[in-house]
Amino acid sequence: MLTFDDGLKEAVMINKIMDTPDKHKAKAIFFVNGYRVKEHPKLFKLIRDRGQPIGNHTWDHIVLKNKPEAEVKKQIETVQKIVKDITGQARSFSGLLTV
Ligand SMILES: [Zn+2]
Repeated sequence: MLTFDDGLKEAVMINKIMDTPDKHKAKAIFFVNGYRVKEHPKLFKLIRDRGQPIGNHTWDHIVLKNKPEAEVKKQIETVQKIVKDITGQARSFSGLLTV
């Protein structure tokens, strides 16, 4: 499985990246950071509309290893929430990537 992380950044780049798995009828998980989803909600929808899986890559892209449980939970759940706010759906992510 191919994965891309630390998105979302710009439409041109995302479209180019998605053209490759599309060409080969493959899937690539796009791991998104919450603060970037907030900045670029249309790019989130673009990935979803093109049918690629989306992963939760925490809100701030911080190292969670030594963070208290409440902070870890917040980092994950705030991404779930903004996605629900944008799409109207409680989306189940294809994965969680924490670094
Ligand atoms: Zn990352």
